[in-house]
Amino acid sequence: MLSIATLYPEALGTYGDGGNALALAHRAHVRGYRVESLAVPLGSPLPDADVYLLGGGEDGPQRQAADALRSDGTLATRVGNGAIVLAVCAGLQILGRTFEVAGGRIAAGVGLIDAETRRGAERRVGNAVIKVDGRYVVGFENHGGDTHLGGDAPLGAVVRGYGNNGAVDGVNAPGVLGTYLHGPVLALNPWLCDLVLERATGEALEPYVSVADDLYQARLAALL
Ligand code: GLN
Repeated sequence: MLSIATLYPEALGTYGDGGNALALAHRAHVRGYRVESLAVPLGSPLPDADVYLLGGGEDGPQRQAADALRSDGTLATRVGNGAIVLAVCAGLQILGRTFEVAGGRIAAGVGLIDAETRRGAERRVGNAVIKVDGRYVVGFENHGGDTHLGGDAPLGAVVRGYGNNGAVDGVNAPGVLGTYLHGPVLALNPWLCDLVLERATGEALEPYVSVADDLYQARLAALL
């Protein structure tokens, strides 16, 4: 059984990021996995899951989510035991050590990755393309924060758009993949969805070709 937990969807779910759970569940199901999908509201303890999903959100809900995750404590334990977290935008920011919200207040993050987020010079809104080991991730970004990584590696290099800082996007750390890209990013990028599944299961997946591949190629051609 592959267990997928979408964390605090009422606080972190802008731009359809909840669709990441649907894409993962579908692509796991067609490979023969039994899948359990859980939505975890604020105030509920985190279940033991194989994949945890954090989406984008506004500054206020983002702070609530960070506080709840820190006091819960499960996420770090589960990552230590082999689970994987996919974090998008606000989700990425709150996994870092600190993040700055509107008004200049610095909030404490979860500290799962070596990252700090500060208000950027301007809000970054638009389509983006990230290059990851010779492949591309397409998506849409909308954020006021710039993220600076310490020791952790980024997910990839910015080809179009802004990402963390105009040069790189996201994070690729043990047990954690993060990006600024909404979409939902796993629905737009089937290969990235499979990468998350392979990390979660520890198994290579059979190829699965669907209309999502055609849509991915068309979007990529339009953006490059
Ligand atoms: N509130 C954060 C920012 O503006 C994240 C926004 C988002 O998740 N789209 O930087």
